Amino acid sequence: MNEFQLIDKIKSILKNDLIGDDTAPIKIGDKTLLLTNDILLEGRHFLNYFPQEFLGWKAISVNVSDIVASGGKPKYALVSLLLPKNKITLVEPISRQIKKACQYYDCQVVGGNITGSEKLGLDVFMIGETKKFIGRRQAKPGDNVYLTGPIGDSRAGLKLLTMKKKPYESFEKILIEKHLKPVINLNHAKYLSQNATSSIDVSDGLSSDIYHLANSSQKKIIINSEKIPLSRELKLFCKKYRFNPIDFALKGGEDYQVLLTQNGKSQKTNDKLILIGKVYKGSGVFLDKNKLKDKSFDHFSPS
Ligand SMILES: [Mg+2]
Repeated sequence: MNEFQLIDKIKSILKNDLIGDDTAPIKIGDKTLLLTNDILLEGRHFLNYFPQEFLGWKAISVNVSDIVASGGKPKYALVSLLLPKNKITLVEPISRQIKKACQYYDCQVVGGNITGSEKLGLDVFMIGETKKFIGRRQAKPGDNVYLTGPIGDSRAGLKLLTMKKKPYESFEKILIEKHLKPVINLNHAKYLSQNATSSIDVSDGLSSDIYHLANSSQKKIIINSEKIPLSRELKLFCKKYRFNPIDFALKGGEDYQVLLTQNGKSQKTNDKLILIGKVYKGSGVFLDKNKLKDKSFDHFSPS
């Protein structure tokens, strides 16, 4: 069973319609609260030789990303820290990064939890708020499919970190920073809430997240490989190390751009959006003329 089959199993037992989007939208009075959580765990999401003071920033950002992709603003967070005895000195730098991230995103940590652990980990639960929730299930035939920015950089940064090379070139440092310290654009929330029919943040990798969107909406999506936005840094990286940038864009995760659909007849009102494809009746995701393989990172499949 892979990660997503496990999630389906759990959903079939718990049976709640609110399960299945980036956040769970909960209506209280005239407000819609958005609930989400996400964990960063040593050995799974980062390796013990990576710089770890940024974990605080990243743990907050990955949760903010889900809230923004749902059309909302982050408000409050609870942080659980899993802490090995030999890493107690990391508490201060991690907390400072959490504070910096909360100041940047205009949200607050209002509580949490700490436990001894074999591995370092940060588990964040976050609440946001929106005027209109956008989920993964409402893509319509004829909708355009957009990305909010280039993808693949974070995976390239991860690859560079595992190379343990010194010194890094300046474009390599940029890719590493994208991996360690992703920055979420809060401005996307309002746009999504006013214009998108569906959306999801690209956290697992485009080839996985676009399937979540297509399957949840029960539609077919065709994307054009030439339209997938690639950064200058990723192109330099792939040229230097002889990788295919499209592989990084499709299979890499953690770029935290937003993949969204919008009525194909409406004029897009954000020039930075990149049109990569279209929604059709049917099922599956196609890259140009071929069925796209769902090959992104899966925690439970043998790699
Ligand atoms: Mg997500």
